Amino acid sequence: MKLLCIESTCDETAAAVVTGELEVLSSVVASQEKLHERFGGVVPEIASRAHVERILPVIDQTLARAGLGLADLDAVAVANTPGLSGSLLVGVVAAKTLCAATGLPLIAINHLQAHVYACRMAAGENVFPCVGMIVSGGHSNLYRCDAPTDFTLLGATIDDAAGEAFDKVASLLGLPYPGGPSIQKAAEQGDPKRYNFPRPLLRDDRLAFSFSGLKTAVRYQLIGPGKAQRTGPQNAEPANGETPMLSKQEVADVAASFQAAVIDCLAGKAEQAMRTTGFDTLCVGGGVAANKPFRERLEADATRGGWRLHVPPLSLCTDNAVMGAIAVERYRAGKFAPLDLDIAPGLER
Ligand code: ATP
Ligand code: MG
Ligand code: FE
Repeated sequence: MKLLCIESTCDETAAAVVTGELEVLSSVVASQEKLHERFGGVVPEIASRAHVERILPVIDQTLARAGLGLADLDAVAVANTPGLSGSLLVGVVAAKTLCAATGLPLIAINHLQAHVYACRMAAGENVFPCVGMIVSGGHSNLYRCDAPTDFTLLGATIDDAAGEAFDKVASLLGLPYPGGPSIQKAAEQGDPKRYNFPRPLLRDDRLAFSFSGLKTAVRYQLIGPGKAQRTGPQNAEPANGETPMLSKQEVADVAASFQAAVIDCLAGKAEQAMRTTGFDTLCVGGGVAANKPFRERLEADATRGGWRLHVPPLSLCTDNAVMGAIAVERYRAGKFAPLDLDIAPGLER
């Protein structure tokens, strides 16, 4: 069995060919990072236009690298939920068109389930049942994952996602986009104890996250509450020139202290989810799982707590199509999608 998997939920245009044995025959990711850099975040309209330009070359290259043609495939799979509508549409229309033209069956992928499946791909062995944690640009979710496509939401963020907080705080600090890697880098020279930023909801019974207040706390630290109130709504982005000049050391200390607060919240709730479910396996996916100190903390907690931990290599943390191999599970279960498959931008469960 050979499946072509397509991913275009946000700002990466990606495709991969995987086999029924979960072997990866080829994988291509065209990142749009450079296009969105100067805006400090993903601009949906720019993202969808870039997908339109890239999707066919990416698919062509993926098939060429695998040495295959469309006739060698058994199905085409595409992530249709959740994501940015314009971005999702490009992948879904491409997949449906390929299926209409070739008669191949279509498979729908849930992008969040795929992020957890990245752990299955990296582990090379079954990881279910497990607690699935997705910490990315758009989500901070905890799931009870009874099987690859059987997820129950345990908790999520009540405001910003963890990756979004990294991106916004990086922008406050004048660090380049995407914020996660630049904060991690700046933090290497910083003191994580210099500023005691809040750990929202950490002591709360609910399995929930909140990062918007943490971002505001960083902002107050930088410009002072009085000025923040005068210049607009609490979580408005700073006007040009509003962020004061900080020394390199101050930037590093704020970055390190902010990163430590996010890691405490994420790791604390992951541990709470492990206790609540009684499961013995934790799978973590999404771009923020690429964060080195976070990975180290997860490993230390897993050793102490006695559970198995799976965090994929960096290339499988951020968006890619290899994790679309979750479509193999659907293929085997005979779960195909109709050719009028629609996108579901906001479906999170
Ligand atoms: P979603 O999967 O929710 O639709 P997305 O696909 O945009 O969102 P990903 O591509 O999985 O998200 O991850 C991107 C996010 O990961 C960005 O917010 C980025 O700042 C963050 N990120 C990447 N590397 C790191 C890192 N080393 N440390 C912290 N955050 C990181
Ligand atoms: Mg992305
Ligand atoms: Fe993603």
